[in-house]
Amino acid sequence: MTDQSVSILCGTCRVAVEGPTEPQDESAYSCPFCGNSDNFKNVMASVKAFTEEQMSRSFDKMARDKFRGSIVQVSSKPAPKRFHPFITDLKL
Ligand SMILES: [Zn+2]
Repeated sequence: MTDQSVSILCGTCRVAVEGPTEPQDESAYSCPFCGNSDNFKNVMASVKAFTEEQMSRSFDKMARDKFRGSIVQVSSKPAPKRFHPFITDLKL
């Protein structure tokens, strides 16, 4: 982990979820809005999957822009958009 503070948001409501400041794997996090909740381990797995999807999408866009009009064809399709129960507001 870095010392950069990143908010964990509910994937549905996009509001910050509530949980302990020093979580363990089994600590419960929940959305104060819709009640979407899971333990810290699963929350982080969802956030990680979300972040990886964002990164692959921005890389894909960059590659398309870079090779536009050139003989190099970028044929990869963008990663399908999946639903993530928990996301982050980290800007990539
Ligand atoms: Zn929610």
